[in-house]
Amino acid sequence: MTADIHITPLHDWLSIPPGPLVIAGPCSAENERQVMETAAKLALIPGVHVFRAGIWKPRTRPGSFEGVGTRGLKWLCKAREETGLMLTVEVANPGHVREALDHGIDILWIGARTVVNPFAVQEIGEAIGNPDIPVMIKNPLNPDLKTWVGAIERLNRMGFHKLIAIHRGFSFFNRSLYRNAPMWEIPIELKRLCPALPVLVDPSHICGNRELIPGTIQKALDLEMHGLMIEVHHHPSKALTDKNQQISPDALKTMLASLIIRNESGPPEFESKLEALRSEIDKLDAELLEILARRMNIVEEIGEYKKANRITILQIRRWNQLIHERIENGISLGLSREFLTRLLQAVHEEGIQRQLNVMNTEEKLQPPSHFKIDEHTKSDQDHDPRNQGE
Ligand code: PEP
Ligand code: MN
Repeated sequence: MTADIHITPLHDWLSIPPGPLVIAGPCSAENERQVMETAAKLALIPGVHVFRAGIWKPRTRPGSFEGVGTRGLKWLCKAREETGLMLTVEVANPGHVREALDHGIDILWIGARTVVNPFAVQEIGEAIGNPDIPVMIKNPLNPDLKTWVGAIERLNRMGFHKLIAIHRGFSFFNRSLYRNAPMWEIPIELKRLCPALPVLVDPSHICGNRELIPGTIQKALDLEMHGLMIEVHHHPSKALTDKNQQISPDALKTMLASLIIRNESGPPEFESKLEALRSEIDKLDAELLEILARRMNIVEEIGEYKKANRITILQIRRWNQLIHERIENGISLGLSREFLTRLLQAVHEEGIQRQLNVMNTEEKLQPPSHFKIDEHTKSDQDHDPRNQGE
Protein backbone atom coordinates (compact mmCIF):
# COMPACT_ATOMS: atom_id res chain seq x y z
CA MET A 1 0.00 0.00 0.00
CA THR A 2 1.22 3.53 -0.73
CA ALA A 3 -0.21 6.84 0.47
CA ASP A 4 -2.09 8.83 -2.15
CA ILE A 5 0.07 11.96 -2.30
CA HIS A 6 1.27 14.06 -5.22
CA ILE A 7 4.64 15.70 -4.80
CA THR A 8 6.63 18.07 -7.00
CA PRO A 9 10.19 16.71 -7.05
CA LEU A 10 12.55 18.76 -4.87
CA HIS A 11 14.89 19.73 -7.67
CA ASP A 12 11.99 21.05 -9.80
CA TRP A 13 11.27 23.85 -7.36
CA LEU A 14 14.54 24.31 -5.52
CA SER A 15 17.38 25.40 -7.76
CA ILE A 16 20.27 23.67 -6.06
CA PRO A 17 22.90 21.40 -7.57
CA PRO A 18 22.40 17.62 -7.29
CA GLY A 19 23.36 16.21 -3.89
CA PRO A 20 21.92 16.37 -0.40
CA LEU A 21 19.93 19.46 0.57
CA VAL A 22 21.60 21.10 3.58
CA ILE A 23 19.56 23.44 5.77
CA ALA A 24 21.60 24.96 8.59
CA GLY A 25 21.31 27.71 11.17
CA PRO A 26 20.78 28.33 14.85
CA CYS A 27 18.13 26.65 16.94
CA SER A 28 16.89 30.18 17.75
CA ALA A 29 17.52 33.60 16.28
CA GLU A 30 18.92 35.45 19.34
CA ASN A 31 20.18 38.79 18.07
CA GLU A 32 21.07 40.44 14.79
CA ARG A 33 24.80 39.87 15.14
CA GLN A 34 24.44 36.15 15.81
CA VAL A 35 22.11 35.74 12.79
CA MET A 36 24.35 37.74 10.45
CA GLU A 37 27.62 36.11 11.54
CA THR A 38 26.27 32.57 11.42
CA ALA A 39 24.62 33.10 8.03
CA ALA A 40 27.76 34.70 6.55
CA LYS A 41 29.88 31.72 7.60
CA LEU A 42 27.31 29.18 6.41
CA ALA A 43 27.02 30.82 3.00
CA LEU A 44 30.71 30.01 2.43
CA ILE A 45 30.19 26.28 2.97
CA PRO A 46 29.63 24.37 -0.28
CA GLY A 47 26.28 22.60 -0.24
CA VAL A 48 24.49 24.87 2.28
CA HIS A 49 21.56 26.57 0.55
CA VAL A 50 18.93 27.28 3.18
CA PHE A 51 19.25 29.16 6.49
CA ARG A 52 17.05 28.04 9.41
CA ALA A 53 16.30 29.84 12.67
CA GLY A 54 13.56 29.48 15.27
CA ILE A 55 11.72 32.77 15.79
CA TRP A 56 8.95 31.47 18.05
CA LYS A 57 10.36 28.68 20.23
CA PRO A 58 8.18 25.89 21.59
CA ARG A 59 9.60 25.50 25.11
CA THR A 60 8.54 22.74 27.44
CA ARG A 61 8.27 25.09 30.45
CA PRO A 62 7.22 28.76 30.54
CA GLY A 63 9.73 31.36 31.62
CA SER A 64 12.61 30.13 29.49
CA PHE A 65 13.66 31.96 26.32
CA GLU A 66 10.70 31.70 23.95
CA GLY A 67 12.25 33.27 20.87
CA VAL A 68 12.65 36.87 19.79
CA GLY A 69 9.40 36.94 17.81
CA THR A 70 8.65 39.01 14.74
CA ARG A 71 11.65 41.39 15.00
CA GLY A 72 13.92 38.37 14.29
CA LEU A 73 12.34 38.02 10.85
CA LYS A 74 13.93 41.33 9.83
CA TRP A 75 17.39 39.97 10.70
CA LEU A 76 16.68 36.89 8.62
CA CYS A 77 15.66 39.02 5.63
CA LYS A 78 18.89 40.98 5.99
CA ALA A 79 20.88 37.72 6.13
CA ARG A 80 19.19 36.54 2.92
CA GLU A 81 19.99 39.83 1.19
CA GLU A 82 23.65 39.58 2.14
CA THR A 83 24.22 35.87 1.61
CA GLY A 84 21.67 34.70 -0.97
CA LEU A 85 20.64 31.83 1.34
CA MET A 86 16.94 30.94 1.30
CA LEU A 87 15.08 31.14 4.62
CA THR A 88 13.01 28.72 6.65
CA VAL A 89 11.27 29.18 10.02
CA GLU A 90 8.92 27.15 12.18
CA VAL A 91 5.26 28.20 12.21
CA ALA A 92 2.92 26.89 14.87
CA ASN A 93 -0.21 29.00 14.35
CA PRO A 94 -1.90 31.24 11.75
CA GLY A 95 -0.33 34.35 13.32
CA HIS A 96 3.18 32.96 12.76
CA VAL A 97 2.23 32.07 9.19
CA ARG A 98 1.05 35.62 8.42
CA GLU A 99 4.22 37.19 9.87
CA ALA A 100 6.49 34.72 8.07
CA LEU A 101 4.76 35.20 4.71
CA ASP A 102 4.71 39.00 5.13
CA HIS A 103 8.51 38.76 5.36
CA GLY A 104 8.72 36.51 2.30
CA ILE A 105 10.11 33.48 4.17
CA ASP A 106 10.81 30.90 1.44
CA ILE A 107 9.96 27.64 3.21
CA LEU A 108 7.81 27.07 6.32
CA TRP A 109 8.18 24.17 8.70
CA ILE A 110 5.73 22.60 11.12
CA GLY A 111 7.37 21.38 14.34
CA ALA A 112 7.05 18.09 16.16
CA ARG A 113 4.69 19.49 18.80
CA THR A 114 2.30 20.93 16.21
CA VAL A 115 2.19 17.99 13.79
CA VAL A 116 0.44 15.87 16.45
CA ASN A 117 -2.65 18.10 16.21
CA PRO A 118 -4.72 17.77 13.00
CA PHE A 119 -6.69 20.95 13.87
CA ALA A 120 -3.45 22.93 14.07
CA VAL A 121 -2.15 21.45 10.80
CA GLN A 122 -5.45 22.31 9.10
CA GLU A 123 -5.40 25.90 10.44
CA ILE A 124 -1.80 26.41 9.38
CA GLY A 125 -2.56 25.07 5.88
CA GLU A 126 -5.54 27.42 5.58
CA ALA A 127 -3.50 30.38 6.81
CA ILE A 128 -0.73 29.69 4.27
CA GLY A 129 -3.39 29.61 1.56
CA ASN A 130 -1.00 29.64 -1.41
CA PRO A 131 -0.26 25.98 -2.30
CA ASP A 132 2.97 27.02 -4.02
CA ILE A 133 4.60 27.75 -0.66
CA PRO A 134 6.91 24.85 0.31
CA VAL A 135 6.17 23.24 3.68
CA MET A 136 8.32 20.87 5.72
CA ILE A 137 6.62 18.53 8.17
CA LYS A 138 8.58 17.14 11.11
CA ASN A 139 7.59 13.82 12.59
CA PRO A 140 5.34 14.06 15.66
CA LEU A 141 7.00 13.70 19.10
CA ASN A 142 5.68 10.19 19.58
CA PRO A 143 6.55 7.27 17.29
CA ASP A 144 3.30 7.46 15.35
CA LEU A 145 3.74 7.07 11.61
CA LYS A 146 0.01 7.44 10.90
CA THR A 147 -0.11 10.94 12.37
CA TRP A 148 2.98 11.95 10.38
CA VAL A 149 1.54 10.59 7.12
CA GLY A 150 -1.85 12.10 8.04
CA ALA A 151 -0.38 15.61 8.36
CA ILE A 152 1.40 15.21 5.01
CA GLU A 153 -1.80 13.93 3.35
CA ARG A 154 -3.86 16.73 4.89
CA LEU A 155 -1.59 19.43 3.45
CA ASN A 156 -1.36 17.61 0.13
CA ARG A 157 -5.16 17.48 -0.15
CA MET A 158 -5.25 21.21 0.55
CA GLY A 159 -3.15 21.58 -2.61
CA PHE A 160 0.39 21.74 -1.14
CA HIS A 161 2.73 19.73 -3.34
CA LYS A 162 6.13 21.17 -2.46
CA LEU A 163 6.42 19.09 0.69
CA ILE A 164 9.38 17.70 2.61
CA ALA A 165 9.33 15.40 5.64
CA ILE A 166 11.89 15.88 8.42
CA HIS A 167 12.91 12.98 10.64
CA ARG A 168 13.82 14.42 14.09
CA GLY A 169 13.53 11.26 16.17
CA PHE A 170 10.89 10.23 18.70
CA SER A 171 10.44 10.61 22.45
CA PHE A 172 10.92 7.29 24.01
CA PHE A 173 10.44 6.21 27.61
CA ASN A 174 13.67 4.18 27.73
CA ARG A 175 16.96 5.91 28.48
CA SER A 176 19.09 6.01 25.38
CA LEU A 177 22.17 7.67 23.97
CA TYR A 178 19.91 9.83 21.87
CA ARG A 179 17.72 12.74 22.92
CA ASN A 180 15.06 11.41 20.55
CA ALA A 181 15.29 7.79 19.47
CA PRO A 182 15.93 7.58 15.71
CA MET A 183 13.75 4.47 15.17
CA TRP A 184 14.95 4.35 11.55
CA GLU A 185 12.25 1.85 10.63
CA ILE A 186 9.66 4.65 10.81
CA PRO A 187 11.20 7.02 8.21
CA ILE A 188 12.01 3.96 6.08
CA GLU A 189 8.35 2.96 6.15
CA LEU A 190 7.40 6.58 5.36
CA LYS A 191 9.64 6.41 2.28
CA ARG A 192 7.98 3.16 1.26
CA LEU A 193 4.49 4.64 1.65
CA CYS A 194 5.36 7.96 -0.04
CA PRO A 195 8.20 7.18 -2.49
CA ALA A 196 8.10 10.64 -4.11
CA LEU A 197 8.37 12.55 -0.82
CA PRO A 198 11.81 13.98 0.02
CA VAL A 199 12.86 13.11 3.58
CA LEU A 200 15.54 15.05 5.48
CA VAL A 201 17.17 14.12 8.77
CA ASP A 202 17.43 16.52 11.72
CA PRO A 203 20.49 15.05 13.46
CA SER A 204 20.53 17.83 16.09
CA HIS A 205 17.21 16.89 17.70
CA ILE A 206 17.82 13.16 17.29
CA CYS A 207 21.23 13.28 18.98
CA GLY A 208 20.90 16.04 21.57
CA ASN A 209 24.70 16.21 21.68
CA ARG A 210 27.39 17.04 19.15
CA GLU A 211 29.31 13.75 19.34
CA LEU A 212 26.61 11.57 17.82
CA ILE A 213 25.83 13.91 14.92
CA PRO A 214 28.30 12.77 12.20
CA GLY A 215 27.37 9.07 12.48
CA THR A 216 23.68 9.95 12.43
CA ILE A 217 23.98 12.02 9.26
CA GLN A 218 25.99 9.30 7.53
CA LYS A 219 23.42 6.69 8.49
CA ALA A 220 20.59 8.87 7.15
CA LEU A 221 22.37 9.36 3.83
CA ASP A 222 23.10 5.63 3.59
CA LEU A 223 19.36 5.11 4.01
CA GLU A 224 18.77 7.37 0.98
CA MET A 225 17.51 10.40 2.83
CA HIS A 226 17.66 13.56 0.78
CA GLY A 227 19.61 15.83 3.09
CA LEU A 228 19.62 17.42 6.52
CA MET A 229 18.43 20.26 8.68
CA ILE A 230 21.08 20.93 11.30
CA GLU A 231 21.49 23.43 14.13
CA VAL A 232 24.56 25.64 13.74
CA HIS A 233 25.51 28.57 16.00
CA HIS A 234 28.49 30.93 15.72
CA HIS A 235 29.25 30.26 19.45
CA PRO A 236 27.48 26.99 20.30
CA SER A 237 28.41 27.02 23.98
CA LYS A 238 26.69 30.41 24.38
CA ALA A 239 23.46 29.40 22.60
CA LEU A 240 20.25 30.31 24.45
CA THR A 241 18.53 27.07 23.39
CA ASP A 242 19.77 23.55 22.65
CA LYS A 243 23.43 24.44 23.21
CA ASN A 244 24.67 20.85 23.59
CA GLN A 245 23.53 19.89 20.12
CA GLN A 246 24.58 22.97 18.14
CA ILE A 247 27.84 22.95 16.20
CA SER A 248 29.97 25.75 14.80
CA PRO A 249 29.99 26.61 11.08
CA ASP A 250 33.59 25.30 10.89
CA ALA A 251 32.54 21.96 12.41
CA LEU A 252 29.73 21.71 9.85
CA LYS A 253 32.16 22.38 7.03
CA THR A 254 34.49 19.59 8.18
CA MET A 255 31.60 17.21 8.78
CA LEU A 256 30.06 17.75 5.34
CA ALA A 257 33.43 17.26 3.67
CA SER A 258 33.89 13.90 5.42
CA LEU A 259 30.50 12.45 4.49
CA ILE A 260 30.46 9.56 2.07
CA ILE A 261 27.82 10.18 -0.54
CA ARG A 262 26.89 6.81 -2.00
CA ASN A 263 25.07 6.53 -5.30
CA GLU A 264 21.65 4.97 -5.52
CA SER A 265 22.74 3.16 -8.67
CA GLY A 266 26.15 2.20 -10.00
CA PRO A 267 27.98 1.29 -13.22
CA PRO A 268 26.52 -1.49 -15.46
CA GLU A 269 28.73 -4.32 -14.06
CA PHE A 270 27.70 -3.36 -10.53
CA GLU A 271 24.02 -3.24 -11.52
CA SER A 272 24.11 -6.65 -13.20
CA LYS A 273 25.90 -8.27 -10.26
CA LEU A 274 23.34 -6.68 -7.92
CA GLU A 275 20.53 -7.94 -10.13
CA ALA A 276 21.93 -11.50 -9.99
CA LEU A 277 22.23 -11.40 -6.20
CA ARG A 278 18.73 -9.97 -5.86
CA SER A 279 17.21 -12.69 -8.02
CA GLU A 280 18.96 -15.27 -5.85
CA ILE A 281 17.34 -13.67 -2.81
CA ASP A 282 13.93 -13.69 -4.55
CA LYS A 283 14.35 -17.39 -5.22
CA LEU A 284 15.41 -18.16 -1.66
CA ASP A 285 12.49 -16.15 -0.24
CA ALA A 286 10.07 -18.09 -2.43
CA GLU A 287 11.57 -21.37 -1.16
CA LEU A 288 11.47 -20.11 2.42
CA LEU A 289 7.75 -19.32 2.14
CA GLU A 290 7.01 -22.64 0.51
CA ILE A 291 8.85 -24.49 3.27
CA LEU A 292 7.00 -22.51 5.94
CA ALA A 293 3.66 -23.35 4.30
CA ARG A 294 4.63 -27.04 4.18
CA ARG A 295 5.66 -26.93 7.82
CA MET A 296 2.30 -25.40 8.81
CA ASN A 297 0.44 -28.08 6.87
CA ILE A 298 2.28 -30.78 8.80
CA VAL A 299 1.56 -28.97 12.08
CA GLU A 300 -2.14 -29.02 11.17
CA GLU A 301 -1.94 -32.70 10.34
CA ILE A 302 -0.46 -33.32 13.80
CA GLY A 303 -3.35 -31.25 15.20
CA GLU A 304 -5.90 -33.49 13.45
CA TYR A 305 -4.12 -36.55 14.75
CA LYS A 306 -4.04 -35.22 18.32
CA LYS A 307 -7.72 -34.34 18.06
CA ALA A 308 -8.67 -37.81 16.82
CA ASN A 309 -6.74 -39.34 19.73
CA ARG A 310 -7.93 -36.79 22.29
CA ILE A 311 -4.40 -35.59 23.05
CA THR A 312 -3.79 -32.03 24.27
CA ILE A 313 -1.75 -29.52 22.30
CA LEU A 314 0.55 -29.01 25.28
CA GLN A 315 3.84 -30.74 24.52
CA ILE A 316 6.34 -28.72 26.50
CA ARG A 317 9.18 -31.26 26.44
CA ARG A 318 9.12 -31.45 22.69
CA TRP A 319 9.11 -27.65 22.43
CA ASN A 320 12.09 -27.24 24.78
CA GLN A 321 14.09 -29.82 22.94
CA LEU A 322 13.22 -28.28 19.59
CA ILE A 323 14.19 -24.79 20.73
CA HIS A 324 17.61 -25.90 22.01
CA GLU A 325 18.42 -27.88 18.91
CA ARG A 326 17.25 -25.27 16.45
CA ILE A 327 19.09 -22.45 18.18
CA GLU A 328 22.34 -24.42 18.34
CA ASN A 329 21.96 -25.39 14.67
CA GLY A 330 21.23 -21.86 13.64
CA ILE A 331 24.17 -20.47 15.60
CA SER A 332 26.51 -22.94 13.92
CA LEU A 333 25.20 -21.58 10.59
CA GLY A 334 26.13 -18.04 11.58
CA LEU A 335 22.69 -16.77 12.65
CA SER A 336 22.33 -14.79 15.87
CA ARG A 337 20.63 -16.17 18.97
CA GLU A 338 18.30 -13.14 19.12
CA PHE A 339 17.18 -13.55 15.54
CA LEU A 340 16.65 -17.31 15.93
CA THR A 341 14.65 -16.79 19.10
CA ARG A 342 12.35 -14.27 17.43
CA LEU A 343 11.96 -16.41 14.32
CA LEU A 344 11.20 -19.64 16.19
CA GLN A 345 8.79 -17.81 18.46
CA ALA A 346 6.81 -16.50 15.47
CA VAL A 347 6.77 -19.90 13.76
CA HIS A 348 5.74 -21.62 16.97
CA GLU A 349 2.91 -19.17 17.68
CA GLU A 350 1.49 -19.67 14.21
CA GLY A 351 1.72 -23.46 14.67
CA ILE A 352 -0.16 -23.31 17.97
CA GLN A 353 -2.82 -21.12 16.43
CA ARG A 354 -3.28 -23.58 13.57
CA GLN A 355 -3.70 -26.47 16.02
CA LEU A 356 -6.12 -24.47 18.14
CA ASN A 357 -8.18 -23.85 14.99
CA VAL A 358 -8.12 -27.57 14.24
CA MET A 359 -9.28 -28.33 17.78
CA ASN A 360 -12.04 -25.79 17.21
CA THR A 361 -11.35 -24.02 20.48
CA GLU A 362 -12.29 -20.40 20.83
CA GLU A 363 -9.10 -19.72 22.74
CA LYS A 364 -6.76 -17.23 21.16
CA LEU A 365 -3.11 -16.77 22.01
CA GLN A 366 -1.89 -13.85 24.09
CA PRO A 367 -0.28 -11.08 22.06
CA PRO A 368 3.31 -12.03 21.14
CA SER A 369 4.92 -9.53 23.57
CA HIS A 370 3.55 -11.55 26.50
CA PHE A 371 4.95 -14.73 25.18
CA LYS A 372 8.65 -15.16 25.54
CA ILE A 373 10.72 -18.17 24.68
CA ASP A 374 13.04 -18.97 27.52
CA GLU A 375 15.62 -21.41 26.35
CA HIS A 376 16.41 -22.48 29.89
CA THR A 377 12.83 -23.16 30.74
CA LYS A 378 12.13 -23.35 34.44
CA SER A 379 9.86 -25.99 35.87
CA ASP A 380 7.08 -23.57 36.83
CA GLN A 381 6.75 -22.61 33.17
CA ASP A 382 5.75 -26.18 32.45
CA HIS A 383 2.37 -25.31 33.93
CA ASP A 384 1.97 -22.13 31.95
CA PRO A 385 -0.64 -22.82 29.24
CA ARG A 386 1.13 -20.36 26.96
CA ASN A 387 4.12 -22.70 26.76
CA GLN A 388 2.45 -25.07 24.38
CA GLY A 389 4.34 -27.32 22.02
CA GLU A 390 3.46 -28.59 18.62
C1 PEP B 1 13.64 23.07 16.06
O1 PEP B 1 13.95 22.56 14.98
O2 PEP B 1 14.17 24.08 16.51
C2 PEP B 1 12.59 22.42 16.87
C3 PEP B 1 11.97 23.05 17.86
O3 PEP B 1 12.42 21.15 16.54
P1 PEP B 1 11.32 20.03 16.95
O4 PEP B 1 9.98 20.56 16.52
O5 PEP B 1 11.78 18.87 16.14
O6 PEP B 1 11.45 19.80 18.42
MN1 MN C 1 16.40 23.24 18.69
